[in-house]
Amino acid sequence: MASWFSRRDFLPAGLKAEQVELVGNTIRVHSRSVKTAAACPRCGMISRRVHSRYRRRPADLPAHGRAVELVLLVRRFRCRAVHCPARIFAERFPPAVTRPYARRTSRLQGLVRHLGLAVGGRPAQALAGRLLLPVSKDTFLRSIRNTTEAATNELRVIGIDEWAWRKGQRYGTLICDMERRRVIELLPDREPATVEAWLRARPGIKVVARDRNGGYSGAVSRALPKAVQVADRWHLLENASTAFLAAVQGNMPAIRKAIGAKSLDPKLLTAVERLQYEGIQRRQQTNRMVRQMADDGVPTRRIVRQTDLSRKLVRQILRGEREDVFRIRESSLTPWLPQLEREWAGGSRNGAELWRRLRAGGFQGSLRVVGEWATRQRRAE
Ligand SMILES: [Zn+2]
Repeated sequence: MASWFSRRDFLPAGLKAEQVELVGNTIRVHSRSVKTAAACPRCGMISRRVHSRYRRRPADLPAHGRAVELVLLVRRFRCRAVHCPARIFAERFPPAVTRPYARRTSRLQGLVRHLGLAVGGRPAQALAGRLLLPVSKDTFLRSIRNTTEAATNELRVIGIDEWAWRKGQRYGTLICDMERRRVIELLPDREPATVEAWLRARPGIKVVARDRNGGYSGAVSRALPKAVQVADRWHLLENASTAFLAAVQGNMPAIRKAIGAKSLDPKLLTAVERLQYEGIQRRQQTNRMVRQMADDGVPTRRIVRQTDLSRKLVRQILRGEREDVFRIRESSLTPWLPQLEREWAGGSRNGAELWRRLRAGGFQGSLRVVGEWATRQRRAE
């Protein structure tokens, strides 16, 4: 059921909006925590005694074609615990809102990080301009590195892959902690030596997921000879899908039969059929060219000279005797399969008997073809 959308719904949970003003093309949302008390970060004691206030201005997600800035009221509380060294502390916001000293809300920061990871620093900056995100190229790079604070000595399972600083021009190496699902390092290039040096400093790594391209594999075996190297899920799927397509391509005649495809899609040809098909395409092109020349009044002799075809061939083309129609070669039995299967299901299992029945209906093929079909059918059952 629909409910009314209040100003608070625009903000990260835990904040309320007090005032919204428009300054130039920026929406300023004056907001504060919904809580009336805060816990001291040193001793945990809850305090309601406000000492003073100040404001932070983290940028937030843009809205309705305008940049958005939160004017966030931060309260300083007194800690009344007797032995607590913190007499005054500033309230903390939930990590989902913003982190201490951050210049962006967490949701904007998340967007910035994903954008940087997806398209790389410089393109991300260009895109950010269009999206009204107030960030520079360096911010993108920094925000990716900043997600990398995991203590590196407890690294056990990592993933290594290429990463584009700039697509098609400059590549680096991206390393992820697979257990914590976080990016932990961006190396400036994709040189095996760089990766090797990085890995040597982290002997605790047990498993390395990588693509099947040989570059990283050597670096891993040299730096961590005992580590297990595995293909990651994306590359496994990629490889599996290539192999699957190749298998399908090789079995197209059977597949076409099963789906009853009559029309010809060049994409669905086997390799041999494709060669035949392309040969016919070329021949038809020649035919068209020769006929066009004749239509333009070029004498046969000159056509022969210019095209390097034999006089006989040119004559054949002009008489329309060289028109090929490409047909997928199929067994003489194919059109008769429905009837055969009906007869088979009706209890007729003898090859010669089946052949006679087909002949009666107009089948021109040999007894051998029908006999072989019956044998295959019997084996299949
Ligand atoms: Zn305290």
